[in-house]
Amino acid sequence: MKYIDQIEMKGKRVFLRVDFNVPMDKEGNVTGDKRIRASIPTIKYALEKGAKLIVASHLGRPRGKRVAEMSLKPVTKILSELLHKQVIFYDDCVGEAIQKAAGNMKEGDIILLENLRFHPGEDKNDAEFARQLATLCDIYIDDAFAVSHRAAASNSAITEFVQTCAAGFLLKNEVEYFKKAMINPAKPLAAIIGGAKVSDKIGLLGNLIEKVDKIIIGGGMAFTFLRAAGYETGKSLCEEDMLDTARKIAEKAKQKNVQFLLPVDAVIAPSATAEAEIKTCSVKEIPKEWIGLDIGPATISLFSDALKGVKTIIWNGPLGMFELAPFSKGTFDLAAAVANSGALSIIGGGDTDTAIKNSGFSAKMSYISTGGGAFLEWLEGKTLPGIAALGK
Ligand code: AMP
Repeated sequence: MKYIDQIEMKGKRVFLRVDFNVPMDKEGNVTGDKRIRASIPTIKYALEKGAKLIVASHLGRPRGKRVAEMSLKPVTKILSELLHKQVIFYDDCVGEAIQKAAGNMKEGDIILLENLRFHPGEDKNDAEFARQLATLCDIYIDDAFAVSHRAAASNSAITEFVQTCAAGFLLKNEVEYFKKAMINPAKPLAAIIGGAKVSDKIGLLGNLIEKVDKIIIGGGMAFTFLRAAGYETGKSLCEEDMLDTARKIAEKAKQKNVQFLLPVDAVIAPSATAEAEIKTCSVKEIPKEWIGLDIGPATISLFSDALKGVKTIIWNGPLGMFELAPFSKGTFDLAAAVANSGALSIIGGGDTDTAIKNSGFSAKMSYISTGGGAFLEWLEGKTLPGIAALGK
């Protein structure tokens, strides 16, 4: 795979696929610019190198139709402000007018195209739609890691029609850190896996067990493992149909000599609310009507100690119902332990980034992935079509 800093862009029309799938309020105002900021290094670099930059993204799920609320137009102003530069918006992404505009661009110009998903060909990875996009450019750059797990015309088929294809800096970071975590990790390697359900994490656990030295399990899914190990877990989350799978995963860890750590105590409450009475107890003593909603202090110590001396940490999923303050301590204290471990730490998938952000330790992590589903599928050992297309 080529990276953006390995290609010559001066005077070339560069099609840049980004992820500007930003949150918006009812009035159409962008309420979070994190995703726009994430691609700024790539955009600035391309403009400084004299590219004629054509930026394209999806927003929401319009399913092949024009949906006014999902227009990328409101992004134009924010992008202009962040770049201190005029960005021209076009209300489509293919067609004669866009073709003409692309042809008339000067070095250092930037245009933003309308939502790619307004065309049905985008989600279908349609070759004809991809060809139309490709006619706009000389070079294709992909910086939209968050959609790499789905083959779309703008991240997969388009690479068949453009000779020079490369990854932007955001994608480069994702690839490089993924290699450091999963392909060539400094050992010992530990995985912290939390979140609600075992069923969502089977693929990931199955793949990680082959690679890691330690697996630390927390969150709602830990209770399914505890139940499988014979504990009564009250009204804690438990997937009855996953008990067998949980047993097999724990057994496999044993066979592979992977240290498999489950909580030894829990913060429990009669209901999953911030106002509920809370207690801490051993996982052997969870009362019938109570719910385990966070790991307890003994588990925090056990897990934090297990991270000492570890060289690489992969983390997916919160260790408790962190959205509610009384059940956030386990996740936040472990974030502190990871931040202070000295290990290379790679975090991502689902809402894990939100949990880490709320802990206040984001800046001390080595890398927080921008991909929810894409990062998860990567951890599952799947090939991501968007990445594979670039590697061809
Ligand atoms: P996931 O998307 O699978 O990583 O799950 C994240 C969700 O798991 C968060 O919304 C947490 O509130 C939830 N969660 C974590 N621990 C627990 C728990 N002990 N009981 C119920 N839900 C939990």
